Formats: sequence, structure tokens, C-alpha cells
Amino acid sequence: SETFRAHRSCTTCPYCGVGCGVSATVANRGAEDLVTVAGDTTHPANFGRLCVKGSALADTLGERGRLLRPRLHGRECDWDTAMDFMAGEFRRTIDEYGPHSVAFYLSGQLLTEDYYVANKLMKGFIGSGNVDTNSRLCMSSAVAAYKRAFGADAVPCCYEDLELADLVVLVGSNAAWTHPILFQRMQAAGTKLVVIDPRASATSAMADLHLAITPGSDAALFSGLLNYLIEQGELDQGFIDQYTQNFTAATRQARDWSLQQTAAACGIPVAQLREFFQLFAATEKTVSFYSQGINQSSSGTDKNNAIINCHLATGRIGKPGCGPFSITGQPNAMGGREVGGLANMLAAHMDFTTENVDRLSRFWRSNSVALKPGLKAVDLFRAVESGQIKAIWIMATNPAVSMPDADRVAAALQKCPLVVVSDCVADTDTARCADLLLPATTWGEKNGTVTNSERRISRQRAFLASPGETRHDWEIICDLATRLGYGEHFSYAHPAEIFREHAALSGFENRGNRAFDISALADISRREYDALRPRQWPINRENPDGSQRLFGDGRFYTQSGRAHFVPVQPSTPLQRRSDQFPLWLNSGRLRDQWHTMTRSGRARKLLDHSEMPEIQLNPADAADYGIEDGQLLELRSARGQMCGRAALTGAQKPGELFAPIHWSETLAQNSRVSALAEPVIDPHSGQPEFKQLPVSLRPL
Ligand code: SF4
Repeated sequence: SETFRAHRSCTTCPYCGVGCGVSATVANRGAEDLVTVAGDTTHPANFGRLCVKGSALADTLGERGRLLRPRLHGRECDWDTAMDFMAGEFRRTIDEYGPHSVAFYLSGQLLTEDYYVANKLMKGFIGSGNVDTNSRLCMSSAVAAYKRAFGADAVPCCYEDLELADLVVLVGSNAAWTHPILFQRMQAAGTKLVVIDPRASATSAMADLHLAITPGSDAALFSGLLNYLIEQGELDQGFIDQYTQNFTAATRQARDWSLQQTAAACGIPVAQLREFFQLFAATEKTVSFYSQGINQSSSGTDKNNAIINCHLATGRIGKPGCGPFSITGQPNAMGGREVGGLANMLAAHMDFTTENVDRLSRFWRSNSVALKPGLKAVDLFRAVESGQIKAIWIMATNPAVSMPDADRVAAALQKCPLVVVSDCVADTDTARCADLLLPATTWGEKNGTVTNSERRISRQRAFLASPGETRHDWEIICDLATRLGYGEHFSYAHPAEIFREHAALSGFENRGNRAFDISALADISRREYDALRPRQWPINRENPDGSQRLFGDGRFYTQSGRAHFVPVQPSTPLQRRSDQFPLWLNSGRLRDQWHTMTRSGRARKLLDHSEMPEIQLNPADAADYGIEDGQLLELRSARGQMCGRAALTGAQKPGELFAPIHWSETLAQNSRVSALAEPVIDPHSGQPEFKQLPVSLRPL
């Protein structure tokens, strides 16, 4: 008489920024839980579809490899011991060296409620801006560019625009692998596709036109496009006059970029460039869709603005099927931005101004709100290395693998007086540097919200019990806050209470012209939170059901209310090739893996796609170096080395290589592509350059 119960929950996929809805069914047979997943047919991001990673989510569950009890200096301990130690060390460090001697490093994997309380504790009560996130590595240049152009970190488009467009220009994106469901939506709609990418990919194979430009020449390409639009009279002069400013300065700069000069800078034939420019000029409904190929650059912010300039010049923004659309990498990169996950922002998208600090002081009832921005990721880990940061808490991320110059980051953590790592898995490159390991719950066990690339807030819902002694991230953060003496401000019983506070802050003291506003959700009940259906911000009194796209009324979030053209001076990558390092290495995701494989690596069928790091190279380079397909190779840069198996392919141009980002020292020695990267950054966003790494190559 075995009992059998089945329970279905709607939640959100924990992988990429598409944010697909997932329907998870738990069939409980005695002590055994059998989980199956399917696409949520009601979720507006995916309408029931899942890609191969999402489909394999059930295979990634279970306790194998999980961190189930706290570990202090390598020995298991109870939570009280762990938290007493942590609070004591943080308090002692702050008292002795001040609030800027401590830091939190967060993750786009965290839920918005986790992010909110972490930011509130550090910026609101400890009094330092030293909260940054791995989203810095992903889309911070897109944020900086939106703020320069629109006055706010405000993504204008929605996914439906990809179907309504007659042309989608994918720049620096292999969406067929990295954002598969969005790519499927474009394909199903029959949208014409142009791909701008130095390498041939699964995406370019299905495009109508592929511009295999010289690595890093994107800003030249879009400056050339702006000049072409001006020369051909293909502008929306009415839109420019009524809704924008600074067009003349942008015109002056773009004038240098003739068709011939642009083609030369981009390394493509003039005829091919003209074909793209004519297509763009002639197609009213055009979306530019861009991702890490644009952002992970030492001039990523300018590249973003060069694209946005072309949309402003043609008035292609705020209308169905039009707009510049940056796509985030992680499931909650945007939710982190909303609550101050970036070191240069306060909560609710507020900048560090005296007025905003005062406003937060009133809202949080704290007189120790941070007065200035904290350290961005690269600078933050440099400060760990120099000893300026003496205590760091790293949550749900693996910077010893993902940061540029990763060996140096790992070495800095090894000598830092206090490193706390909270994660769901026991063994990562970063966990190996920790003094204290804290076991956290993960997907399927957590409750909260995430925001996807189209500003859509969705619920992640728990459908499994928390294993071992794991705790939710928000609970651990509130525990630390309480032990530091701020308990009355962190006495939440459920993530719904945190969400309500976050929503209330977004509308606090009616800040007027603001983009991020979900104040209509400030009073939702626990039941309404549990049932919250996906919707796009702003969600306020005027738009209680959310807002599909922004700027349809021509009003922007700048002081003047007009969008800003940003004159862009195209520049080449800061990392240069040389006789010693004569090849470009590009890096990116594979179709079936996610980040450092701590979750996706558990699914056998995902590993089958690629079991070890492959270094793709052109057969001509292979012949020059005497390399055969499948042979082991070593890449070296001025910073480090990595090894992988040669994969000969015409997809790479001669002189250019590609390697995946997913492997870590925990999985295979010398397999991290990040170990090769110089920590050079974009001056506006602080985002590191990962796409053009100068390397040497030798067969092993
Ligand atoms: Fe998950 Fe992204 Fe695949 Fe959707 S497209 S199922 S969010 S990995």
C-alpha cells in the first residue's frame, strides 16, 4: 500500500537571462522524490519551450557533491559556531580597520530578495559600498551605456519585439547556444537575421548575412553605420529634433567613418558592409540584439552607445519591433541591478547622491548608509590582494575561475585574513580558498523572484525540502546582520516581506522621473506573492499590470527628458597581439554547459556535448604549428596558461582561436580561460575584457 503523491510547481529556469518558466512535478513515492520538468506553457518568455539545459534540470538535482553542513577551517561545525565566528571576525575587522575593509561579492544566481538584504546590510548598516557582483563581468557596460543614453538602466524592448521585427541584428552573440529560446522565437517568426561576430557559429549558420569582423571593431562598424544613415538621408529628423540631444556632436565624430574606412577597420569587403547598411536603413522594424561580445571589452560602453546612437538617429525605439536590446547572461543579473548589487549603485537604481543617501537613511532608519560607491570587481579583488580588504564574503559564485587573471585572484584569496564562501556545492576553486564554508539552498529549494532580460519579474518557487543543514541565502545574511547588532532591521520571516520592502523603496517619497518602479506591488499579501504572475516593470499606479516596452511616448529618464547621443571614438582592444603572443583568443559559452559547471556538469547528457575543453583553431594555423585534430595544446599569455584539445574548424579565421569558459581547476588542471586574461577594464563600467586575449600556442 505504497502512497503516491504528485505535486506541480511553476518556477523559473536558473540558467540564462531568458528566464524561461519551468513546470516542475515532484512525484513522491515513499521516501523517494522523482522530479520531472517541462516548459511552463503559460510563461510569456518561453510559452512551454525549454532548451537542452532547461530540459535536463531534473538530472542536476540531488545531494551528490552538495555542501550540507558549515565547515570552519576544513572541519564541520554547527551553524552557531560558524555564525559566531563570522560575526566576530567581521565586527573585529570593521572596528579595527573601518567599514571599507570588508566586502561582499554576489552573484546573478542569487534571488532578488537575497541580493536586497545583502546590499542593505553592507551599504545601509555596515556603511561601505563594497558590494559587487559577477554581473560586473556580464553586462555592466550595457548598464553604463543605457544610463548615458536614457538617464537610467532601462532596457527599452521586450521579447515580442524579436518576433515583430523584420530584421534582428545579433552583435557579439551566439544566441542559438547562449539564449536558445529567444533564438527559436526569432526563427519561428521568420525574422531576417544579420550576425556580426568574428567567428562563425551555430547562430551565423542560420543567418541571412554574417559579417565576420575583426575582433573588437564593433564601434567602428556602428559609427560607420551612423555616418551612412546621415549621408543617405535615412534619419528620423522629427524624432531627433523632438526627443534627443547632442546629435551634432555624434555626427561630427561619425563623419570620419566612410564606407571604405569602416570596411578596412572591420576587415570585411565594402560590398558586404554596404549590403548590411542598406538593409538596416531600409528596415523600419529593426532590433539590435547584443550580449557579451559587445560588453566584455575595454571599450564596451562605447560599443553599446554606438549601437544605441543608430536607433536614436532612426527613431527606432519604443515602438513594436524596434530597439537596442542588451541580453543579460544570468537569470537574475537584472534583479541584482535593481537592488544595488553593483558597487556604484544604491538600491532601487539610485545613484550615490546626497539626496539619495538621505532618502535611504530615512527609509531604512539608519544613519550609517554608505556615502560613496564601493570597489568594482577587478578593483575589489586587487584590494583583497593589497590587504585593503581583510574580510570578504563570496556568495554563489566562483571568482577563482571567472575573474580575469584568475591565478592572481585565487592567490589573493588564499592570503586574505577572512574568506567566507556560501554555496550549494562543496568543492569549487573558490571554496578551496575559504576559511568558512556555509551551505546554501539552491534551485528547487528556494523561494523568491528573478528579473529576466525584458524586465520581467518571475517567481522562483521551492518544490523540494532543504537538504542537510542548508539555509537560504537571505536567512544567512539576516543572521549575520542580527549578530552584528542590526537585528530589528532584518527580522524577516519570509522572502515575501523582503520583496514588499524592496517594492516600497522603489516608490518611496515619489522620486518622480524614475525607471525602476514596482511600487504597485508594495502591499501584496503573502498569498498574492505566492501567486505572483510574471510581469514587466515599471509596475506602478499608471501601469499596474506592468509595461511591455519603454519610451513609446518619447520621454526619457534624463534631466531634460531627451535621449542623449553619445559621441564615440572607436578604439582597439587594450590587450594587443605581439611576436610573443601572436594569436587572438576569444572565449564564450557552450550550448550545453553553464558557468563553471557546478550544476550543469552533474547531468550526463549535458556532458556528452563536450567532455573536456576544446580549443578551436583554423586548419591553416594547425598546419603552421604542426597540430592535428584532437591533439593536446597549451595556450600561454603574459598572465597564465591553459590546456585543451585541438578542434580544427573553418569557423575560426586564421590567427583567431576560441575556448570555452566553463572548466575549472576542480575539474581539470590548467583548464581556465580566465587565467589568460589581463585584468583590463572598460573605464565607464569597470567590466573586464575577455574576448580578445593575445596568446601563444604550442602542441603538447
Ligand atoms: Fe533556461 Fe535559458 Fe534554456 Fe530558457 S533558454 S531553458 S532560461 S537555459
